[in-house]
Amino acid sequence: MAEKFSFYNSLTRKVEEFVPLEPGKVSMYTCGPTVYHYAHIGNIRTYIMQDALVKALTYAGYEVKRVMNITDVGHLSSDADTGEDKMLAGAKREHKSVMEIAKFYTDAFFRDFEAVGNKMPDVIEPATNCIPEFIHMIEVLLQKGYAYQAGGNIYFDTSKLDDYYVFSSSVEKEELQIGVRDDVEEDINKKNKTDFVLWFTKSKFEDQALKWDSPWGVGYPGWHIECSCISMKHLGDRLDIHCGGVDNIFPHHTNEIAQSESYLGHDWCRYWFHSNHLNDRAGKMSKSKGAVLTVSVLMEKGYDPLVYRFFCLQSHYRKPLEFSFDVLDNTRATYNKLIKRVSELNARGEVSEEAKKEYMDRFREALSDDLNTSMAITILYDVLKADLDDATKLSIVESFDTVLSLDLIGHAKKLSEDASVDPELEKYVLEQIAKRAEAKKAKDFATADAIRNELLEKGVEIKDTREGVKWQLI
Ligand SMILES: [Zn+2]
Repeated sequence: MAEKFSFYNSLTRKVEEFVPLEPGKVSMYTCGPTVYHYAHIGNIRTYIMQDALVKALTYAGYEVKRVMNITDVGHLSSDADTGEDKMLAGAKREHKSVMEIAKFYTDAFFRDFEAVGNKMPDVIEPATNCIPEFIHMIEVLLQKGYAYQAGGNIYFDTSKLDDYYVFSSSVEKEELQIGVRDDVEEDINKKNKTDFVLWFTKSKFEDQALKWDSPWGVGYPGWHIECSCISMKHLGDRLDIHCGGVDNIFPHHTNEIAQSESYLGHDWCRYWFHSNHLNDRAGKMSKSKGAVLTVSVLMEKGYDPLVYRFFCLQSHYRKPLEFSFDVLDNTRATYNKLIKRVSELNARGEVSEEAKKEYMDRFREALSDDLNTSMAITILYDVLKADLDDATKLSIVESFDTVLSLDLIGHAKKLSEDASVDPELEKYVLEQIAKRAEAKKAKDFATADAIRNELLEKGVEIKDTREGVKWQLI
């Protein structure tokens, strides 16, 4: 029996009790990455908070089925269908084919996605797998009069809807309308400024690498159509929760609702979960500002990727979060202390089921209060401080970590095994690993090798692994 669970629904603009379509079951859709470049740590923050939502719902007794798309076609540099095709630009930049780019960045994305402790979605579907479904939905929209053909493209006619700006307050609507009017690149084929492309034919990007035959000529889909089709393909005509970043609200999710509900003729998704930006000191993280800061880069610098997860979980998903290496260093110190405390617990003895239940209820209630992960972590510290025997504490920590996914028990075990390591030596080794990462980044492989050899002479072996640089005494 699933327990009560509440979170903020962007559609109704309030914290609501979650009531799924089918008792105890959750159908969830997540907008996946556009695989033309690396996902930066701000993108990964969004997926960490969604993972926390999946696991918190599971903790509350729900069975979650989660579907994610991979955008490998049709996403232009502006979400409002202007600018150049992102995949094509990525392929040109790296002198590779679009499919090579898609494969490379899909693999890179999931490496980082998993490294921070995220559970893989149950279904992962690239947009290029579903072209017949897109064409079918567009045909129905044309038949029902919600779409029109102009200049070779098919557009969704937003004037056919009573309320297109479903997520916005009246003030925001006015701002959005001004924003849309001022959009620099005007598409003369559109009847209304807010109309969006469902299918492009050769009217744009003659050199588009991926093209398909359609009733309207050879072409390729617009970006928004894919999420509606992929969601319906795997999760049916009604959806419980749709997730994304706040950036997706307009126009992407607004357009998804417009086309889905027009196609279906009824409501589509009841709950919309949006997480906020990660900023650095210069402002919002983006890929356009030079080198992309990824989870893999953090690992090369010697950070455990779970330290980044811990950093994200300590703040609320609806608030912007500011990233800096100083804060990450502090988080690493806090994480290491937490691991040390867990490693000092002795597993022998009886678990008090009554005490365990009490703390589990508190933990679940914190998560059910609009996914208050920082409060959940506070409760973890309460457990460690509580007047309970170690076996009970360990059992509760293990239970909480099914949601937090900080590998508290695994890291604690490892720490106990490494307890004989001199802290001075450890500090030195971590410094050398960071220096080696800098040298590798600067392509100074001679220095990188020299550092590795020098550590070997001191009896320390370092290894580059998927989870970052690992070291051990030999
Ligand atoms: Zn989407």
